[in-house]
Amino acid sequence: MAEPAAARLTVDLDALAYNHAVLCAEAASAEVAPVLKSDGYGLGAGPVARRLWAEGARSFFVARLAEGEALRAALAPARPATIYVLDGMTDGAAPRLDAAGLTPVLCSLQQIAAAATHAADIGRPLPVALNIDTGMCRQGLTPDETRAVVLAIDRLRGLDVRLVMSHLGSAAEIGNPRNVSQLSRFLEVRSLFPKARASLAASAGLFLGADYRFDLVRPGISLFGGGPLEQPDARLRAVATLTAPILDIRNLRPGDILGYGESVRVDAATRVAVVVAGYTDGVIRAAKGAGYAWFAGARRRLLIVNMDILVIEIGDAEADVGQPVELLGANAQLDDLAAAGGTVAHEILVRLSRRAERIYLGKAQ
Ligand SMILES: *Cc1c(COP(=O)(O)O)cnc(C)c1O
Repeated sequence: MAEPAAARLTVDLDALAYNHAVLCAEAASAEVAPVLKSDGYGLGAGPVARRLWAEGARSFFVARLAEGEALRAALAPARPATIYVLDGMTDGAAPRLDAAGLTPVLCSLQQIAAAATHAADIGRPLPVALNIDTGMCRQGLTPDETRAVVLAIDRLRGLDVRLVMSHLGSAAEIGNPRNVSQLSRFLEVRSLFPKARASLAASAGLFLGADYRFDLVRPGISLFGGGPLEQPDARLRAVATLTAPILDIRNLRPGDILGYGESVRVDAATRVAVVVAGYTDGVIRAAKGAGYAWFAGARRRLLIVNMDILVIEIGDAEADVGQPVELLGANAQLDDLAAAGGTVAHEILVRLSRRAERIYLGKAQ
């Protein structure tokens, strides 16, 4: 294959399948339900979902209604699956949820009321999930609201509660007491719904042990190779690889000031490569300094990241114009780039641009 003249994003569906198998083994008897919000963490919900379906996944989560509709279209008609929409029963969503066969994750008393009204309108039980806030204070019914709803039988009339779920706020920190507190609140609430399945864990929670797994786990980032503990995890493979070719090689002299402003002053002779990628392509600007790229078998410090160009230090490595530099992948690790930029792997992935040429490796189905 000829080296591309610009940034290239490779999405390795075989690596995705590999990670899925690792997570299934960890999940033991719990179902692994991939979370494919934000277009499958920026990597293409369609091909990602089709491959995961081929690997056995039958339940998926998205955030927005429109993401659910797009996912249904990408799977239909040959691949039946339950698709949960985390935004739930938003205003005017009911007919679209019905049309696409999506299951709303109800997260407030108002949504429960809207769903019950809709169930009465259509005259049949409406499958729903319930999101319970067990201590993340972001989304979901409080345990008290949940108890009140269950006691007032008519408020759930017409609703077929299939899944009761909650989300952990500190699961990446094993031993954080917040995990135990959320778990015990979840156990209380789920006992109110003996017939529903239960789900508490995302990527990080899945690795907190059997107590946290319940019937269904909801990994997102770990499917794509992000470490569940927000650091590189050798059990998982990189799914996204971003490479870009060298545009020029330059020698900087002591006293030179590199790029905009004066943040990079050169104090010793330095050989650098100018690379055809920038923050447009998803290499976040904040990663300069602490972040690195991978070239000629070693980590190379990111000196500056501009919109379309970045500069790395290459020392005395053999280098030629046109050679590819790995900006993200098996060697330039996702979690390291996130840490260098003061963010999480999730944000790095969803910011990978549409500008980079995109290639899928491995079968989508
Ligand atoms: C995003 C999300 C997940 C997946 O989280 P990861 O950290 O990517 O595994 C699971 N559950 C809910 C409710 C989410 O919003």
